[in-house]
Amino acid sequence: MPVDDGLIGGIHVARMARAEFAADTPHDHEAFQASTINALLTGELCGDLTIGELLEHGDLGLGTLNLLDGELIIVDGEAFVARVDGSVSSVPPETQTPFAVVCPFAAEREGTVVDLADFDAITAEIDALAPPGATCIAVRIDAHVARARLRSVEQQLQPNPTLAAAIATHVEFDLHDAEATIVGFRFPRDLAGLELPGWHLHLVTADRSTGGHVLELALHGGSIAIERETELVIEVPTGVDVGTAGVVPERDEALDDMERGR
Ligand SMILES: [Zn+2]
Repeated sequence: MPVDDGLIGGIHVARMARAEFAADTPHDHEAFQASTINALLTGELCGDLTIGELLEHGDLGLGTLNLLDGELIIVDGEAFVARVDGSVSSVPPETQTPFAVVCPFAAEREGTVVDLADFDAITAEIDALAPPGATCIAVRIDAHVARARLRSVEQQLQPNPTLAAAIATHVEFDLHDAEATIVGFRFPRDLAGLELPGWHLHLVTADRSTGGHVLELALHGGSIAIERETELVIEVPTGVDVGTAGVVPERDEALDDMERGR
């Protein structure tokens, strides 16, 4: 039976093992997650859920692959991985993930992008579209990217690198004047440890050739679609301590640096 964590930060959280996950049917406004940020940060870089299993629970999402082998981007039910040189390729369904989140995305509200000059302007625009009281939001943006600073991460050779060692292998690169799809989630701070609090966006170009984790972004023309998520189902890999939700200032600061490239 799933372990019910109850309502955390306005979203209902439940955990289940891989076998239960396989038998679970996705519902509207339900996001699915493989393992947790806590587990990733304590060196659990290998999960037991495959991308094929993950895709049965959603068609939009993001994450990484086992041993942090690149940035995972899921769009229209297809999984792509962005490597450290920014190149993107399809992910075979048997590939495993230590951390990923997906949802069966259905646009609930839509908006138009005119000019959005930076990451904060973009997230403010998405926040403004969100239904009142919604804490967890999934987003899809299809837009012209004026410029983007993206990041990917090199596959770890050590199964248990420190966070600092893993961050040291991050590579940042820039993208200019490209059509792209950007997907991601906003999770509430109360979910810290289980998820990344705040906005987390991954980008893939329209020709699916380039992508990565979004550090900075400016858009010129396009569309935004959002969906509120009210449930989060977390798959707990065998033998992995996925931790509990809670704010740990040092960890959360390190995560913030890592996610925003500061
Ligand atoms: Zn990311």
